[in-house]
Amino acid sequence: MSEPAASAVSAAGSLLDINGLFENPVFAGGFGLASLGAVLAFARRGVLTSAGLIRRRLLVNVEISRQDPAYPWILAWLSEPRPQTSFLAKRLTRINKLSVTTTTSTTPNGPTQASFFLQPGYGRHIVKYKHAYIAVNREKQSTAKTNTGEPHETLELITLYAHRHIFEDVFTEARGLALRANEGKTVVYSVRNFDWVPLGVPRRKRPLASVVLDKGVKEDIVNDARDFLARRQWYVDRGIPYRRGYLLYGPPGSGKSSFIQALAGELDYSVAMINLSEIGVTDDKLAFLLTKLPERSIVLLEDADSAFVNRRRRDGDGYSGGTVTFSGLLNALDGLSAGEERIAFLTTNHIELLDPALIRPGRVDMMVRIGEATRYQAGQMWDRFYGDVDTDGVNRDRFLARLEELGLFREAVEGAAPIRTSTAAIQGLFLFNKNDMEGAINMAEGLIPQKLEA
Ligand code: ADP
Repeated sequence: MSEPAASAVSAAGSLLDINGLFENPVFAGGFGLASLGAVLAFARRGVLTSAGLIRRRLLVNVEISRQDPAYPWILAWLSEPRPQTSFLAKRLTRINKLSVTTTTSTTPNGPTQASFFLQPGYGRHIVKYKHAYIAVNREKQSTAKTNTGEPHETLELITLYAHRHIFEDVFTEARGLALRANEGKTVVYSVRNFDWVPLGVPRRKRPLASVVLDKGVKEDIVNDARDFLARRQWYVDRGIPYRRGYLLYGPPGSGKSSFIQALAGELDYSVAMINLSEIGVTDDKLAFLLTKLPERSIVLLEDADSAFVNRRRRDGDGYSGGTVTFSGLLNALDGLSAGEERIAFLTTNHIELLDPALIRPGRVDMMVRIGEATRYQAGQMWDRFYGDVDTDGVNRDRFLARLEELGLFREAVEGAAPIRTSTAAIQGLFLFNKNDMEGAINMAEGLIPQKLEA
């Protein structure tokens, strides 16, 4: 037999074998099942791919990170009641899973107040806004950590591609809502880990008139800040960083913090407050925090002297005590991290500890002493408390005469330190004698610190 004929026979033989195999019921059944499985798997993949394709083609999603300023706005927007009329919308948009954010604040003499704010919890929700359904997915990613050590969080909003423009409305409305919630209020932010967080609930704006400083002092600072805010273009044209710094110094209880808060209210700004003497506020942290200041906020760096104390401590034993150093403060004030636009207030009770290097344009442009109560302030405060009953000012003059008698406004004599009192102490005296002018006059002696200690 020649070679080709042999291979033809063997090919015919193998064909025969295959036919035989298919005639075998066990094999044929198994093969059938396997093919069915393959077809199903193929179909499933096809469905998934086309679902993905449809999803990509037909849906739009927006992801908002927790770090983004819009994150709390959108959460608050989601919590807004949106009554639905249709049965479907009612069923679909019911949010069953909520999370609560509690803020507490203590009033100066009163109990702690708490407010609860309900938001959609983690997971998926559906909201209907105008004509569009929006799927919301709030997720905590346990693997990715923010620099605060807390898990990263995202909010994802998904809607039909055809409704994509709804997002603009959502964001505008959410921002408007956030602004309205703070209307007439001053938000004070403080630091938690590496984040700015509102300190308690936003407080009602403090009227500037409620802070009594010496003649003209308040007006000088307010006018300067207003002038600065009106000159943005002037700075831009000259390529100068658009920053202004103020240093308020003087004894505690003279109204420094109260004034800054009132000024922020007047300018419609928030206050972002950080205490430089706090352990854990390091140079890096300060620099980082200044890169992400809440919008429209005045930075308040309290106890600026501690940075200088640290410098001395550093010179001595090389240990900064885990707080801000002098160079850290300067970098924060004029380094890149300082941001383009900024109003900063520094406060200190110990001006003698500060370094002249601080007084430079953009770092500290204006330095103002907010001191112990002057005669002018004592009179003004009296009028604020008793002006409506003491209409002719007779009792005010008696009160001022009594303070003079006690030697409160007298200049230092023969090297002896002058007797002074703080505006906070005068306010305390008036609060104690709310409806009692005689009481306030009789107790004026208590304003003298030495007498208080005796
Ligand atoms: P400082 O920041 O200078 O230590 P604060 O602003 O914290 O002082 O004042 C402490 C308290 O005393 C506040 O309740 C404030 O209302 C009151 N107070 C102090 N000084 C004044 C002032 N000049 N005018 C009005 N209130 C004042």
